[in-house]
Parts: sequence; structure tokens; C-alpha cells
Amino acid sequence: MSRTPWWRVLAPVVVGGTFLVLTALERRRPLRRVREAKWRHVSRNIAFAGAAAATVNLLERPVVEPLANAIERRRCGLLYVWRLPPVLHLILAVVLLDYTLYVWHVLTHRISWLWRFHLVHHVDRDLDASTALRFHAGELALSIPWRALQIAAIGVPPNALRIWQNTLLVSILFHHSNVELPIDVERFVARVVVTPRIHGIHHSIVPEETHSNWSSGLTVWDYLHGTLRLDVPQQAITIGVPAYPTPADVTLANSFALPFGAQRPWRAFPDDGEPEAHRRASTVTELAP
Ligand SMILES: [Zn+2]
Repeated sequence: MSRTPWWRVLAPVVVGGTFLVLTALERRRPLRRVREAKWRHVSRNIAFAGAAAATVNLLERPVVEPLANAIERRRCGLLYVWRLPPVLHLILAVVLLDYTLYVWHVLTHRISWLWRFHLVHHVDRDLDASTALRFHAGELALSIPWRALQIAAIGVPPNALRIWQNTLLVSILFHHSNVELPIDVERFVARVVVTPRIHGIHHSIVPEETHSNWSSGLTVWDYLHGTLRLDVPQQAITIGVPAYPTPADVTLANSFALPFGAQRPWRAFPDDGEPEAHRRASTVTELAP
């Protein structure tokens, strides 16, 4: 009789525990002001998580797991060409998966038919750990060919894929969370990994701020591409997308339908101007050294 591997038991406990701890901390130390009732916001985003989990289990896993097994068996992909020691191969595979996810994130904003789906994640009017679960099932389905390309091109074996998938889940829960960390602690952590203040800027309604901070794990990719932005105070940020500002825009039914309808020009602010809160002194810094 085959036994369930230990990581299949441990990973959901760690990910679920991270979500619960962050959600509890969000009540005690909120980083940004909150607009929606917490229970309504979290329960709606958990519904998104249900559809997302079904998509991953039914569509993504049957493709990527056999592919990673085949890649390991046949020793295909960039890292196998270099004949690296197994530990170095594993570390570099995880790092390169993280970098190619940075590229995918940029593409989801730049390519209009991908943005239709990624928009559903960004219209959320509050940003908290549950927003990390708010991805349209269509976006996850559309990411499968990219994921397959990542695995094949890099030469990702199954254990590296597993480590990356689970650390990514913990990482996106963390940096979407609305938890105020002590500023000195966050400044230190932000040198290495994406933090709540860094990702909060990416979810701002100001387009120039949205088009920054694309990393999902290590911050080094934003440093290297010159796309890191640290100078926006969280209290000055309005979370969301300018053209979709109302509670009706984020309901479950409207959000699921969003990619398939006529698109509003998303940069347009309803009253033809940025909200007052964004007219701030340019000298203000927060995470910036
Ligand atoms: Zn985004």
C-alpha cells in the first residue's frame, strides 16, 4: 500500500496556518485602512480559492507533474546542460522559476487578453492575505502553457517544482497581507523578499505605481529591472483599479464575468482625476532608505 508523502500532509498545514496567522494579525495590526467588512471580503476570496484549487488540481497538476518527472528522467533543460551538483541545481531551479514568474506577471499586465483575467485580482478594494487567493480560474488555466515552458526550459525536477509552489504560496499570502510590520524589520526583509508595503504599491489605483514591484518572491528582479518602488506611504494608497471602484465591481458574479465583457479604460478615474489622498508630497519616503 502506498503511503502519502510527508510533504503532501505538511504543505497544506503550513500554508493554511500562515493564512490563519496573517488574518489574525491583520485585525491586531492593520497596515492600510480597510473599506469592506472583513468576513465578506475573506469569504468571497475563499470562493475564488475554491475555483482556483479546482483548476490547479484538474488542469495544471496533470500537466506539470508528469512534465517535471519526464524532464528529470531525460535530463532536459538549461540546468541539466550545466551538470550541476543536485543541491545547486535545485536552488537555481527555484530561483529561475521565481524570475520567470516575474516575467509572467509583467505579461499579465501588458497583454490585453491576459490583463482581462489578472484584472479580477487587482479590482479587490482591500488588500489582505485573502487577496492572494483571488485569482480568476481562467488566469490560472492560461498560465499552464507558461508553467510548462518554465519547467522544460529551465530543467525543473519535481522536488524543485514542489518547493517553489509551496514557498510561493506562503510568499504571496505574506506580501498581500494587511499586516503592519515594524518599519525597520520590513526595510531589512524587503532587501531580500517582497513584503506587504512593497506589494501594496503594486495594488495602488495610480497606474505608475501599479507598473512597479512585479516580483512575487525575491525582490532582486525588481532591483535588476529598475522597477522597484519604495517611496509611497501605505496610508496614501487607494487599493484597486481606477475604472472599477465600486462594491458592485468586486462581487463574485461580476468578477467572474469581468474578463468576458466590454472592458472599461482601466486607467480612467471616475471623476477625471486622482483621489485627494494621492496628492502627496513627493519627498515622503517609507521603505526607501
Ligand atoms: Zn499584478
